[in-house]
Amino acid sequence: MGKAVVDRERCYAWLGDVCRACYTNCPLPEKAIYFEVYTQVVVDEEKCVGCGVCEYVCVTEPDAAIKILTPKQFEEWKRNKK
Ligand code: SF4
Ligand code: SF4
Repeated sequence: MGKAVVDRERCYAWLGDVCRACYTNCPLPEKAIYFEVYTQVVVDEEKCVGCGVCEYVCVTEPDAAIKILTPKQFEEWKRNKK
C-alpha cells in the first residue's frame, strides 16, 4: 500500500487558508491524518493505509496537494526531504 504525502507549498491549509477536506473524509482522522497547527494537515506514515480518499477529495487545482506515493516513491520522497 502507498502513503499519502502533503505538498505544503500547495496545500491551502499550509498556505494559511482553512481547508480540512482530506481530514474530514479520511477513514482514520486523528490517526492517519491530523492537524499540526490550526488545520495544517500532517500524515502519520505508520497509520496511513494509502486508501487514496484524501487525494480524491483534495480541492486544489489542477491536481491534489496530497498524493498517494507507492512504497518506492515514498522512500525516495523521504530521502529527498532530509
Ligand atoms: S490515504 Fe487514506 S488513510 Fe491515508 S491520509 Fe489519505 S484518506 Fe487517510
Ligand atoms: S484537502 Fe488538499 S488543500 Fe485541503 S487541507 Fe487537504 S491537502 Fe490541503
